Amino acid sequence: MAILPIYTYDAAVLRAKTEDVQAPDQEIIELVMNMFETMNKAKGIGLAANQVGIGKSIFVVDIGEEDEDGEGRSNPLVFINPQIIEVWGDDVSFEEGCLSVPNVREDVIRPESLVVKYRDLNFEEQEMEADDLLARVIQHEYDHLEGIFFTDYLKGLKKRLLKPTLRKIMKGEVDADYKLAKGILEPA
Ligand code: ZN
Repeated sequence: MAILPIYTYDAAVLRAKTEDVQAPDQEIIELVMNMFETMNKAKGIGLAANQVGIGKSIFVVDIGEEDEDGEGRSNPLVFINPQIIEVWGDDVSFEEGCLSVPNVREDVIRPESLVVKYRDLNFEEQEMEADDLLARVIQHEYDHLEGIFFTDYLKGLKKRLLKPTLRKIMKGEVDADYKLAKGILEPA
């Protein structure tokens, strides 16, 4: 398995809508394995394929307990060609972060429950109901596949205050404890 560099705000690949996977061949399976490796090493709980520069409709999530050896978590989930088909519940405010927007954390309001339809690694159709943190991560990752960042939801003063930080990230003036794909893609 390989650790892949993570593309940052506002790379073109992260602003484009991703393409559906037709069938998971060996290349896709390898990509998914590498995405888990990359996410775990970066201490993330979700990662979309376009965050590692691949414009395919895939994300991985793991909100399970961290393994004792620090080699990952306990509940890896793969979502291929996901569609959020229903949301409900209260609109909840929660502080989000993103491996593609290092060192930024902001409150985002999202519905607390959803149903997501997707294909698993065997390309079998699945439907999952999710609440709370899992629903939160699924919505955040699903947004990536649509070219949306969590920071896009900020308005007014918060948005203006964040602007210089986002500009720095766009210029590659940012550091993280994991590998970034700085300067590989021109900003969108
Ligand atoms: Zn993210």
